[in-house]
Amino acid sequence: MNIKLALVPGDGIGPEVVTQAVRILDKIGQIYNHHFEYTTVLAGGAAIDATGECLPKETIAVCKSSDAVLLGAVGGWKWDVLPGDKRPERALLGLRKELGLFANIRPAILFEELEDACPLKKELIEGGLDLVVVRELTGGIYFGEKGFKQTEMGLAAYDVEQYAEEEVRRIAVAAFDISMKRSKKLCSVDKANVLESSRLWRRVVSEVAKNYPEVTLENMYIDNAAMQLVRNPKQFDVIVTSNIFGDILSDEASMITGSIGMLPSASLSQGNFGMYEPIHGSAPDIAGQDKANPMATILSTAMMLKYTFGLVNEAESVERAVKAILAKGYRTPDIMSSGMKPVGTKETGDLILIEIT
Ligand code: NAD
Repeated sequence: MNIKLALVPGDGIGPEVVTQAVRILDKIGQIYNHHFEYTTVLAGGAAIDATGECLPKETIAVCKSSDAVLLGAVGGWKWDVLPGDKRPERALLGLRKELGLFANIRPAILFEELEDACPLKKELIEGGLDLVVVRELTGGIYFGEKGFKQTEMGLAAYDVEQYAEEEVRRIAVAAFDISMKRSKKLCSVDKANVLESSRLWRRVVSEVAKNYPEVTLENMYIDNAAMQLVRNPKQFDVIVTSNIFGDILSDEASMITGSIGMLPSASLSQGNFGMYEPIHGSAPDIAGQDKANPMATILSTAMMLKYTFGLVNEAESVERAVKAILAKGYRTPDIMSSGMKPVGTKETGDLILIEIT
């Protein structure tokens, strides 16, 4: 296969972790006979410094003409003084909108080898955890009408939560499709006891469910879901929810796995196109020190191989290699525990490369 990838390393540790991920992809290419062609483009603070804007037109054009995008992270202290609409993080919203990335897929996997990093009681997580949050990414309150108005209580600010049937339908279809490849159990999270937009959400999800008779659908209110996730996380397999609820639930789900440096994500559009990135940020506190854990980005390439290119064996090879070095006791500082062997960013890449078969 010939694969055209846009690389958006971004800021802070972004370039360091993307470099390691590219080495892994090249090794996969050698073994499984694929050719990866990369075009590196700017976004975030690096783009502001070079061009004055966080998401240059060229970056959008290159991403659109590629088969998939691999992103590191954007942002950093240097640009924190800029006003909201000029900050590096705006590049993410821009990319999501421009590329039509409406489905954000965030697996929350607790690797057995890292059980000590989980803040929950041992009996709740015995045998590890493996769930996926499917978050709607281009609609809802983050993109709805917003503004200010004068009221009897003084100045008021408002942000509108709005969902159209088609927006709900396409994210529901994505979630049911993922459920079909897993344990066929889907939990749709909303606030249908209070919100009109949630009642529409629930109705549309139930309609889509009719096309997936093998999948067991459960509906849950967001407040209960937030509680159940720490009370009994194993009850969940795939969770589908709106933009704002998904933002919060996916962070909660990743926290219970204990390490932000381990978790990949995919943002998908219609068809197979996707943008893949670690869930962590640019970690300015450790940038340039060879301390960043590159596993989340490397596991993001595994998601890319699977979701965009259907290369399941190749994806599993990457996942196996990551697990193998964890099993051998190698740890970057973020997941270090006593008795384990400390390694840096590059050495982690070296070790994973050896395990790729
Ligand atoms: P962060 O994820 O960058 O860092 C939080 C903590 O986790 C830090 O202590 C950091 O050192 C550690 N950490 C993160 N990734 C790690 C890794 N791979 N290996 C080891 N340790 C790791 O979150 P933050 O500090 O809130 O944000 C820093 C900057 O990143 C901000 O400018 C923020 O806006 C931006 N950000 C970007 C994205 C993105 O690009 N998708 C996401 C979140 C935050």
